[in-house]
Amino acid sequence: MPSINGALILPDKIINGQIDFQSHIEKIIELPHTLNQYILPGFIDCHVHGGNGYDTMDGITAIKHMSHFHMSHGTTTLLPTTITAPWSDIIHALHSIKEVMEHKTLNGPRIHGAHLEGPFINPLKRGAQPPFCILPTPRKIQEALQTECIKIITLAPEIEHAQEAMQTFSQHGIRVSLGHTLASYEETKNAICTICSSRGTPGATHLFNAMPSLSARTPGPIPAFLCDSVSYAELIFDNHHVHHANMQLALQTMQDRLFFVTDSMRGAGQPDGLSTLGGQGVFIKDGVARLENGTLAGSVLTLDQALRNAIKKGKNLLEAAKLVSTNAAHYLGLKDRGEIKEGLLADFTILNEKLEVCEVWINGQRKV
Ligand SMILES: [Zn+2]
Repeated sequence: MPSINGALILPDKIINGQIDFQSHIEKIIELPHTLNQYILPGFIDCHVHGGNGYDTMDGITAIKHMSHFHMSHGTTTLLPTTITAPWSDIIHALHSIKEVMEHKTLNGPRIHGAHLEGPFINPLKRGAQPPFCILPTPRKIQEALQTECIKIITLAPEIEHAQEAMQTFSQHGIRVSLGHTLASYEETKNAICTICSSRGTPGATHLFNAMPSLSARTPGPIPAFLCDSVSYAELIFDNHHVHHANMQLALQTMQDRLFFVTDSMRGAGQPDGLSTLGGQGVFIKDGVARLENGTLAGSVLTLDQALRNAIKKGKNLLEAAKLVSTNAAHYLGLKDRGEIKEGLLADFTILNEKLEVCEVWINGQRKV
């Protein structure tokens, strides 16, 4: 039976030990000596557009390549994410994601499904999303459902038809993540209520970004997420999108309901220079991607880098493992992964002493 050993990042403690596994973890054995590599549950990225020159919107081959790129940075489960585009292009991309999901020879990370980011967002808060926002009419909702691969939908709760969309998607087990929004505090609270009463799990898309800031008399959506006990939230922790004090605030209030995403675009893993996002020109310099008008345009982040950023800001590996894996698994309702525990899938990301990815295992097989 295969086995690996190292400092094991378990749900509540770190031990030196050995893991015996097949496709699932069979046994965890504590060892007396110190080991110089860290074994974490495989990383989970719920919001990722592209990487290494490839973008989800480009179709099957691109989805495979960008998935492999993120796997080499520790990601074992991901949700390729579409961008606001003409509806037919989005539907085409969703079909491509479905095809890759069902393709047994991908030999890459697990594709859990698609994250539909836009077009059901507020055109006045679209950030770097191209101007193809539309309303979630009953017909569009049905067409989206028919693709049978969407697991997360980013939606602005204040737009027309949003109420019905939140109910229908939630009833179908799709996570409705509120974002690219100008919703008030009250509108956000009501949306969270709607999602919960439709048996859904509310979320926030890249918390703090593409939503109104918190201010004294108009709190906006942020405290609605921070102060409830049900909402999950994504955070882009690349040292550019969110100040670490805000990360700390979100972590203290939301605790195990906060998780990191990359929101990375095709320029991730590429040298500085020109790239594109949704057909728009993007310039990447020193790890920051911006549109011509200066708007932050996705990121070039990878989850291993997000983990190292968190460690640099004082988090420990137990906390970091939750941010890159455990909490996202809980959000998605995936009980078979996200922790190193007997009976769970043998998906591991192994880091060296510098916290760089040195091995990736998926379903008990070494991939990197
Ligand atoms: Zn995005």
